[in-house]
Amino acid sequence: MSQSSRGNGELTETTSNEVESSFQVGIVGAGPAGAGAAYALRDSDADVTILEKSGGVCGRAATRRKDGCRYDHGANYIKDADPRTAELIPTLGTEELVNIDEPVWTFNETGEITEGNSRDEHKWTWTKGITQLAKRLLAETDVDVTHRTRVADISRVEKAWVLTDTDNTDHGPFDALLITPPAPQTVTLLEATAWQDNRLETLIAAAGDVEYRTIRTVVLHYPFMKSYPWYGLVNVDKEHPVGWLSREECKDGHVPDGESLFIAQMSPEWSTNRYDDPVDVAGSDTASHIAALLDDERYENPDWIDDQGWRYALPENGIDNRAARVAESAGLYVAGDWIVGEGRVNKALWNGYDTGTRIANALSISQQV
Ligand SMILES: Cc1cc2nc3c(=O)[nH]c(=O)nc-3n(C[C@H](O)[C@H](O)[C@H](O)COP(=O)(O)OP(=O)(O)OC[C@H]3O[C@@H](n4cnc5c(N)ncnc54)[C@H](O)[C@@H]3O)c2cc1C
Repeated sequence: MSQSSRGNGELTETTSNEVESSFQVGIVGAGPAGAGAAYALRDSDADVTILEKSGGVCGRAATRRKDGCRYDHGANYIKDADPRTAELIPTLGTEELVNIDEPVWTFNETGEITEGNSRDEHKWTWTKGITQLAKRLLAETDVDVTHRTRVADISRVEKAWVLTDTDNTDHGPFDALLITPPAPQTVTLLEATAWQDNRLETLIAAAGDVEYRTIRTVVLHYPFMKSYPWYGLVNVDKEHPVGWLSREECKDGHVPDGESLFIAQMSPEWSTNRYDDPVDVAGSDTASHIAALLDDERYENPDWIDDQGWRYALPENGIDNRAARVAESAGLYVAGDWIVGEGRVNKALWNGYDTGTRIANALSISQQV
């Protein structure tokens, strides 16, 4: 009898008498694409294992906790930009679901702030943070998520895929393998794949063409709260050092009353030039830009700061669907926002979901023959 940890957090027990499902699916990455694929496979016959390098889930849709605050320091929220997302999110449970009421306004190079024209849309997160998306999707599955496991090598063993992590432990064999990290990290994995086949070269070339915007997120906390008519400000002419500024206190349950917490996503130019600046130096420069933008010198002195660099924050372009699917006939799949070419949680989620559906279909066809 063995025990393993499942996506829903419960320990399950299997006996040697139980019939094992015939197909093994391995997924690299528990971001929105990986979680979406696992969700699509939830009613299939496959045993699904996710290998995730971090201790959490949801990838660049990330949440952190500090001093009584909770903040989404990667993706800020999920838009109901398509009917599938609008339908799915409430079905994952409306308890603790947060819809940010305040709108997004705009500002330009000179710091002039103007009312935006954002349509009446949902901007969703959860009181416990945006990582709830992957947590709730995975809770609907029986998927095994193996954390703190960074995949380093892939090999083709007979007609299956075996993954080797950085501790030299093997995982698999898998009948189907789905790789979901950002394109440059996927390229590194594909280049470390022992498989002599032209389809691999085609996939590497396509993924290698995806370019990324780098963003350094700077988090600034203040022991006071000033009201504004907006939740977020976006720099529309892309000429300001601050690309995006938002108020985490507009999300229920994120910031204690009477405090404020800004998420500043710095411009790609600022972020690239100052990627390795010590956090206090980067924080101080960011604070002075915010004080000027909001015309309040108190913002020059946050009582604490935090940061996160996102080298591969947002893909600038996508790849051709035929290239993305070139190795699927050999059971090798890729998914993520970089396939679509849009750095959006919902795009990654549905790209992962649709890929998971193709995996389920391919496995059920091979079961019939
Ligand atoms: C600063 C910032 C702001 C954003 N704002 C928004 C927003 O407001 N709204 C929105 O919709 N989107 C936003 N996005 C984009 C959104 O976060 C991404 O589009 C989405 O997370 C992509 O999902 P994914 O599954 O494709 O990739 P990821 O989220 O990157 O997930 C990939 C996963 O793979 C794991 N991984 C990588 N390499 C390995 C390995 N070798 N072994 C094992 N695991 C590995 C990673 O740890 C990660 O968990 C933002 C992103 C950033 C960085």
